[in-house]
Amino acid sequence: MSDAGTDMRTDSGRMLGVKAPLAPAGTEDTPPSSLSSGLSRGQADILRNFYPTKRVGNYLIGRKLGEGSFAKVREGLHAITGEKVAVKVIDKKKAKKDSYVTKNLRREGHIQQMIRHPNITQLLDILETDNSYYLVMELCPGGNLMNHIYEKKRLEEREVQKYVRQLVMAVEHLHRAGVVHRDLKIENLLLDEQDNIKLIDFGLSNCAGILGYSDPFSTQCGSPAYAAPELLSRKKYGPKVDVWSIGVNMYAMLAGNLPFTVEPFSLNALHQRMVDKDMNPLPPSISSAATSLLKKLLEPDPDKRPNIHQVMADPWLQLGNPHTGVPYLNRIHIEEINHIVLLHMTEKMGYKHSEVLSAVLTNKACHTLTVYFLLNNKMKRISKDISVLSHEFNIVWFSQEKQYNMEKEKKSELFQTQWRKPIEKITIPPKQTPAYLAVNKGPTKEKKHRNVKLTKACYSTCISFLFC
Ligand code: ADP
Ligand code: MG
Repeated sequence: MSDAGTDMRTDSGRMLGVKAPLAPAGTEDTPPSSLSSGLSRGQADILRNFYPTKRVGNYLIGRKLGEGSFAKVREGLHAITGEKVAVKVIDKKKAKKDSYVTKNLRREGHIQQMIRHPNITQLLDILETDNSYYLVMELCPGGNLMNHIYEKKRLEEREVQKYVRQLVMAVEHLHRAGVVHRDLKIENLLLDEQDNIKLIDFGLSNCAGILGYSDPFSTQCGSPAYAAPELLSRKKYGPKVDVWSIGVNMYAMLAGNLPFTVEPFSLNALHQRMVDKDMNPLPPSISSAATSLLKKLLEPDPDKRPNIHQVMADPWLQLGNPHTGVPYLNRIHIEEINHIVLLHMTEKMGYKHSEVLSAVLTNKACHTLTVYFLLNNKMKRISKDISVLSHEFNIVWFSQEKQYNMEKEKKSELFQTQWRKPIEKITIPPKQTPAYLAVNKGPTKEKKHRNVKLTKACYSTCISFLFC
């Protein structure tokens, strides 16, 4: 575990020379020249629009992305690569008031490290101080599915099929590793940049027998609206509680509300509606294949309910996706390692070859894994940017020299790992919440805003190529 304590000197807001950018995101002030020197326009933009409230280890901590009972999730900026991350900050003092949370504080990190899957957020680093426990994860810039459903009222069946299929693949992967999530709800389903599902929040998950956690499957936990009837009635239960919750999530996506509701709320009445299969009506346009799967998932008797492997074989989920069901390995194979990133880390950043291999191959949340993961992602993104730019602006118009320069600029951005210098010049404001941080504008707006800016950036890059 990294020792955040050593770097916490900057926590209180050390003044590092350049005044912090205090304008809200989206203003067009130019960054202080010393901040942007050596950085490309895109990199300077990231720094200009990031408003840190404190620094923990190698991460600047920015605006709030979401909040639960014991944790706040904030946007973070990794000081070495300049890439954004999500940081879940668990308040140890608050957690101490709940014996279950205290007992299982470290479990979320342990379980998440066991897992590697494209539809599950990757845990990158764990830090701990006297007051807080920090889980650094990959950032899901698409926000949570709740906002997406809220905007559209309910989702198209085709879209639901894609999301449910991805959720089923993630859960099948967890169950194969012996992990039961126990808190599958719309708020815990996030979207990445490509509109793919990323499952989060392993705070209530369990894996009896693997990490030796006791009392595996009798604790009443999760949200009642998503909880299986056997869990609500305090019976012993198993992994099929996740299958039930997938059904509730699927219904919520198709209908924009929950399948079982009671007014006024009572656990007994809710349980009775589930047992009676007294589901709220579905929109009439839903296909019979989708309805059939939903009924299988929301089967109140766990013995009759399919397990997750049986769900994978459902014809509606397989529709147009013959590859559903190809297993994904929890550990990366040595041949899959990105050798360009490995070489950069060993030759330019001073990491030992064995240190990088060990972190990446064992999926151990630590700073070395973070650097590898973020550089690898950055490389994929920038290679894609180059091909999109070439395609969108019909690069044949440009001279070969201009095309070469554009690729050179992108490539130099890729391994710009000198972010620490400009980042150190950012002033962390003294303890206060600026007005713009207090208002959670919601990820969807953020996404729209970001897209507009991306388009603008691509456009202006190309314009400057055309006229330079
Ligand atoms: P809790 O355990 O308190 O429920 P979660 O882990 O579910 O906390 O996170 C709470 C909220 O924070 C989520 O609903 C989401 O809006 C936001 N969030 C969490 N993780 C990420 C992430 N990796 N990227 C973006 N937002 C996130
Ligand atoms: Mg949550």
